[in-house]
Amino acid sequence: MHKHGHIGLSLAVAAPIAIIFGYFFGPQWATLTLIFSFITSRVPDFDHRTELIAHRGFTHTIWFAIIISLAGALIITQISTIAGTGPENAGITLSNITNLLPTFAMTFTGFMIGFISHLIGDIITEAYDYTVNPFWPVSNVAYTLSWTKADSKVWNWGLLLLGIFSTGITFITIFIW
Ligand SMILES: [Zn+2]
Repeated sequence: MHKHGHIGLSLAVAAPIAIIFGYFFGPQWATLTLIFSFITSRVPDFDHRTELIAHRGFTHTIWFAIIISLAGALIITQISTIAGTGPENAGITLSNITNLLPTFAMTFTGFMIGFISHLIGDIITEAYDYTVNPFWPVSNVAYTLSWTKADSKVWNWGLLLLGIFSTGITFITIFIW
């Protein structure tokens, strides 16, 4: 699957969760969830840019997704605390940790959606000589559905359109209704 297919799929998968977060925690969380998912949906394929790691190797596992999402959520939560003023804005401390849990959990979820949607995108794509082994090295089971070729215009542009449509629905739901 190409870049635009992955981006569209990440937005489509994130949209229902963005609507739920937006409804309960404020519209900014709908936007942020889409943005976080959009960002990480491309991260696993950074393995194309280096010879040091195999394509569709560790960056295409659930463990990599969890590590990066945890780190990203910690950084965003930390930034969110020091963005304001007052004693509660001194960073992540024991006394404010419960107040910060929603920020941390929603940020983590947003990042994870991007990774998981990327794995889904690669699983529905014909594997050629690469397969997705999301639980490697714990389990070496390869997942592939081979519904489409990586360069399918119908799938890539179709998913991008679906993502744009889902984003539109999210904003209409959260900001207009
Ligand atoms: Zn990939």
